[in-house]
Amino acid sequence: MEKIKIRVDLPEENRVLYASCVDKEGFVDVNRFIEELPYVEFGKEFMDPRISGILSKLGENEFLITVNQREPEEKQRFTAAHELGHYFLHRNLLKSGGKIEDRYILKAEGVSDEKEEEANQFAAAFLMPLDRVLEAMKSGKNDVNSLAEHFGVSVIAMANRLKLPT
Ligand SMILES: [Zn+2]
Repeated sequence: MEKIKIRVDLPEENRVLYASCVDKEGFVDVNRFIEELPYVEFGKEFMDPRISGILSKLGENEFLITVNQREPEEKQRFTAAHELGHYFLHRNLLKSGGKIEDRYILKAEGVSDEKEEEANQFAAAFLMPLDRVLEAMKSGKNDVNSLAEHFGVSVIAMANRLKLPT
């Protein structure tokens, strides 16, 4: 498996928006990022419990990211960032009316494991900017639990980011 990307790899034109969605503590407002991202709508719905999130292509330049509201908040945040990864990296796989529907383990039918891993790496880098994680550690948050809480992610997601065994 490839190493987790150190920095989130966003197109130039979306970097200012990203920076504006990261607060002083390093917490990333992924919901606001998607809401303000051109061509992408964002919604939360009570969906089939087997589904975590969906990226849909509604029209030529019209996408929708939907997250399952049944899941815990930190899971919803990771799913939203994972779907964003599919948007930035894999949207050209979709035809109008098509969708990537991620099951709760964040795997979608017809999407390779490699692409799912790319979306996970994108999500990890997006929600846990490494420089901000290191800053938080310097300021005394040294255990995985408090770092996970600080960044609004699951303990497993944070442990992966820090390359700790899970
Ligand atoms: Zn996926």
